[in-house]
Amino acid sequence: MSDKPERITLEEWDLRYEQLQRAGTCQPNYGGPLSRHVADGDQRLLKLRYDNSAAALRLWNFLLTEEDRLHDARAGGKKLIGTMKDLGTVPVMAYSFDNIVAFYPDGAWWIPCVMELSAGLLSIADSLGIDESFCPVRAMLGAFVTGAHFPVPDRLICSAGATCDDFSAIAQRLSSLGHPILWWEIPHRRRPDPDEAAVNLPGGFTAPKCQVEFVKSELERIKTAVEETAGEQLDEKKLSAGIKEANQVRRYLAELRHLAFTAELCPIPALEMLIAEMLAIHFCSDRRETIEVLKELLDEVQARVQAGVGILDADAAKIFWVNPVADLQVMNLLEDCGGRICGTEYLFTHALHEIPENLPPLEALARMTLADPMVGSSTDRAERICADIRKLGSEAIIISRIPGASHCALEGQVIGEIVQEEFNIPVLEIEVPPVTDSMRPTVRTRLEALVETVKARRKR
Ligand code: SF4
Repeated sequence: MSDKPERITLEEWDLRYEQLQRAGTCQPNYGGPLSRHVADGDQRLLKLRYDNSAAALRLWNFLLTEEDRLHDARAGGKKLIGTMKDLGTVPVMAYSFDNIVAFYPDGAWWIPCVMELSAGLLSIADSLGIDESFCPVRAMLGAFVTGAHFPVPDRLICSAGATCDDFSAIAQRLSSLGHPILWWEIPHRRRPDPDEAAVNLPGGFTAPKCQVEFVKSELERIKTAVEETAGEQLDEKKLSAGIKEANQVRRYLAELRHLAFTAELCPIPALEMLIAEMLAIHFCSDRRETIEVLKELLDEVQARVQAGVGILDADAAKIFWVNPVADLQVMNLLEDCGGRICGTEYLFTHALHEIPENLPPLEALARMTLADPMVGSSTDRAERICADIRKLGSEAIIISRIPGASHCALEGQVIGEIVQEEFNIPVLEIEVPPVTDSMRPTVRTRLEALVETVKARRKR
């Protein structure tokens, strides 16, 4: 375990880095001081607070060197697949090939935050008719136009059907700019009729068997396309091995989430946990290294829990958080206000559940696809959230709205009402744009008020 766990600034990380260097801490080839990433334009890093462990250093360096990794992969002869929207399914298949690297161009979602709007990606999207009435994923269009953030993939694959209007419109605009897209359909998950054959999905939802079969046929089509790109066949044995590796990532994350949400003293900050969870989606372009990064983080967290130390006060208010924040700094702010994360639903819980290993692999992936919380109703999503709140004992829920996101117009109300009816805990809805600086005092006041309310309720 590192020394006393705490959250430190980027400046403090420079000193800490020298200390770790002197102590002979091993680093991977992408290691180095965190502050060097500011020179790439990642200005927001100057305003964040970070966990002070060597494991967190590795996590951040891994995240912030992904573009280099993609360029190296191409230079090394690998093919790049840009997967879009399904958040976690196609990469499990793609990483089962030997010479494919898959990533989500959707990840450009966070560039306006990390570069504090300096990259101009949102203005480019504006100029293409995709204005601020769309969610920040529109930054992806700007990233394709400038070519400054990730290499243009050899093939683009995007899910359609049960998806948000934002992504459909933005991906269609991308296609009109001369980037051909292979579309595949995920139907809206419905509850099976009483007399209909039903299938249990990872995470607890059910779906009609015919929907699983349909998705499986769509995945067959995707597999054939990726085989063409790879120039290599993907048999069941290789795909099953890929699923096993993905499950290793998911098992480490399950253990990390369990400890982060339930340990008496919070052992790891919300921001590092958000990034760790995101690794499940496409392994930050290196599946093997993702497993190593998560293993080191888990070792650190386990050691802290065993030693009875953490990074926050023992009485921190336990908050369930819904939706990812467009501004990463808000995760710090929650902790500055006296809260801790106790449960999350960042739109991709289907990428966190283990994929069944006792089924034909494409059928297992089809079930995982339909377990996506965003392809069913908001009521289903709310019930899943309730099941987690019941398990974790969360004392309040924050639903962070994403500016312009079509699903955010009403779902917050639906989720909030269902949670309140079930548990009678405080519900707070806040909107988080990519850079919250101008509204920080308001957000801070609302978070502080929520934490005070939680603590006052404990005395009843
Ligand atoms: S609207 Fe929501 S689901 Fe759609 S791309 Fe934006 S964040 Fe993702």
